[in-house]
Amino acid sequence: MSGTPGTRVFVVNSGSSSIKYQLVDVETEQAILSGLVERIGEPGGGAVDHVDGMRRVLAELGDAATDLTAVGHRVVHGGSVFTAPTAVTEAVIAQIEQVSTLAPLHNPANLAGIRAAMAVLPGVPHVAVFDTAFHQSMAPAAYTYAIDRELARSHGVRRYGFHGTSHAFVAERAAAHLGRPLEQLKLIVLHLGNGASVAAIDGGRSIDTSMGFTPLQGLVMGTRSGDLDPAVLLHLHRQAGLSVDELDTLLNKRSGLLGLSGSADMRDVTRAADEGDADAALALDVWAHRIRHYVGAYLAQLGGLDAVVFTAGVGENSAPLRSRALAGLEHLGVRVDPERNGAKDRTARTISPEGAGVAVLVVPTNEELSIARQAAALAVGERR
Ligand code: ADP
Repeated sequence: MSGTPGTRVFVVNSGSSSIKYQLVDVETEQAILSGLVERIGEPGGGAVDHVDGMRRVLAELGDAATDLTAVGHRVVHGGSVFTAPTAVTEAVIAQIEQVSTLAPLHNPANLAGIRAAMAVLPGVPHVAVFDTAFHQSMAPAAYTYAIDRELARSHGVRRYGFHGTSHAFVAERAAAHLGRPLEQLKLIVLHLGNGASVAAIDGGRSIDTSMGFTPLQGLVMGTRSGDLDPAVLLHLHRQAGLSVDELDTLLNKRSGLLGLSGSADMRDVTRAADEGDADAALALDVWAHRIRHYVGAYLAQLGGLDAVVFTAGVGENSAPLRSRALAGLEHLGVRVDPERNGAKDRTARTISPEGAGVAVLVVPTNEELSIARQAAALAVGERR
């Protein structure tokens, strides 16, 4: 094919039994192709292993997979080691392996995808993009847990934060939408999907975020509890006889909206609350209370606020939940205009009233595009 090569990036998000992929044209920002190989290694599944799965993906891509600028890999945990996208080498793979104890479910699965893609696409630069990297700018005061320092240090116990790719992308888009340099903005980004987190972003740098050592901390999520007094675990262990594994399942898979209302899907919860279900109504109250708690805290940490930005499934799609999340913050200058909020529009937009002290925005996230851009920038930079 003629024309300018070097704009297409193959983005891989590899799970333990699945490979999600997207071929992204970085210049037009369009996804040329996307897909999913599921049930890898399962009887009757799509592929026997990740390499087999990746071969199938390549066959699917056909000619589209030639002339790739880079392959961008989503990696959940970069520990304290990775602060930026990184070209994958054997040494980098070893470092990702080392931080895998911090994300024992995710990092090995991400690595399986990296190895498989490197095996089938050996001539292309592979770049790892970490969910944690953006938050490495936090100060020790924000990331340190007040426990025994030696124990914490030797086991890597601190706040890392996640969803970094999304927070960084959305912050940049918000600045573009506002027509102001990101370096001058104080932003609170609310990434509200199945997983949910808030980030305080000062001049483009994350200074605090609600997820912590793992993605369990912070907001009320689909199935995760978010913030909790850690003594609850001790109590449930001693008094209810729950084992460590049972507590893990409880907090990660049976809590949050699901635990409170019976459904992890926000659409079900809002419907049930509208029909008078008291559990669903309380779930929404707890959900919104927690969001306001963080908005207030981060306003204080930022020492000012230019915009609150909604993104991800709930943040992009639900006008009633957006206004509910920020209700009662009018005295801080945070206001949602009902008409603007209700407008059906898929692009970045303002939903605060004209002249409001703080802009409230909806900015669609696009983690694949963000990974593609970062991978391309690094690959092109290295070629020079
Ligand atoms: P993930 O974290 O898995 O990427 P998403 O960002 O896609 O998730 O968000 C999924 C969540 O968004 C689900 O809880 C879903 O119910 C919610 N959601 C999507 N559309 C709406 C809507 N119109 N109203 C309320 N919730 C919605």
